[in-house]
Amino acid sequence: MGTEADSQHLHVETFLVAAGRPERSPGSPANVAVELTSTYAADGPVNYARSGNPTWNAFEEALGGLEGGHALVHASGMGAISAALALVPAGGTVVAPDTTYNGTGDLLVAHEKGGGTVLRVHATDTAGFLAALESADLLWLESPTNPLMDVTELDVVLARSRELGVTSVVDNTLSTPLLCRPLSLGADVVVHSVTKYLSGHSDVVLGATVVADTERGREIGERLRRHRTLHGAIAGPMEVFLALRGLRTLSVRFERAGASAAELARRLEGHPAVERVRYPGTGAMVSIDVAGDADAAERVCASTRLWLHATSLGGVESQLERRRRHPSESEQVPVNLVRLSVGIEHVDDLWADLAQALDHV
Ligand code: PLP
Repeated sequence: MGTEADSQHLHVETFLVAAGRPERSPGSPANVAVELTSTYAADGPVNYARSGNPTWNAFEEALGGLEGGHALVHASGMGAISAALALVPAGGTVVAPDTTYNGTGDLLVAHEKGGGTVLRVHATDTAGFLAALESADLLWLESPTNPLMDVTELDVVLARSRELGVTSVVDNTLSTPLLCRPLSLGADVVVHSVTKYLSGHSDVVLGATVVADTERGREIGERLRRHRTLHGAIAGPMEVFLALRGLRTLSVRFERAGASAAELARRLEGHPAVERVRYPGTGAMVSIDVAGDADAAERVCASTRLWLHATSLGGVESQLERRRRHPSESEQVPVNLVRLSVGIEHVDDLWADLAQALDHV
């Protein structure tokens, strides 16, 4: 890709726009091509499209620069998570928060069924993590956690993990590299559901892993790359093109959504239909425990006109969902918890819609 964009010297807003562009020459395109081919003529840098594609390279260059490492694009966030969890040996011990994104939680249960051990620690229990790390093969972190919005002391836990030589993975989907760069705190692997904020328009399903630019990071990166190639959960070039297009506007989308989330959290606090507001103080997600039972929470979700009642997050359009409607959601998540993913609409319109929906509690 030959781009001049340099994550060390440009502001992140600029890097987002400049990274992963084709080399400039008279008549060169502004954007990377969507290269639709399954194979390549022999003796080039890539011979088969399950192991590489120039459209992937452009996105990987941009995300790698943002996180301060080397990125690999996967078919979905779960594809990335599966590749990262495969770093733990069969029968090995994983330390993880007691509530994670429920897909990750299901894979951890599968790890236990396969004879492995999972030590679950509350996300805010730093001492608990430090103790559990003593016998760990892999540390899994997610901060803030989805959907409880608990924040882990990443720097302390990752530093200890590094000291003990325990491989560490951070799901950075909710924070994005704009709020947190786990590799700089000592993490070995960052995973993303690119489906969410990074692509930002609810039109692709995609994932990524990122490793540090160190000998250890490159070695782990090779294992992840091999997993992607052999297990075959690869991304289509069109999805990756759309994700890169979405990434260009991440900073403006996230800034607007974050400001609105802070304002909505403020207005929700003390609302008679809201028992508890779970807002980590930054980012664009807010969870609320409605003052009522599961049915009351469902009525809120069914009563919005603007907010989309749907099971995703990170899009330009605001979305909400009662998470316990999914049977595999953690029992630690209250049945009346509604997760709000704040989009980029005007905050007063979002508030008006939410306030009238809360009247149905
Ligand atoms: N990680 C988090 C924090 C998520 O919220 C999600 C999806 O909701 C995933 C991972 C899984 O990503 P995907 O749906 O792209 O497979």
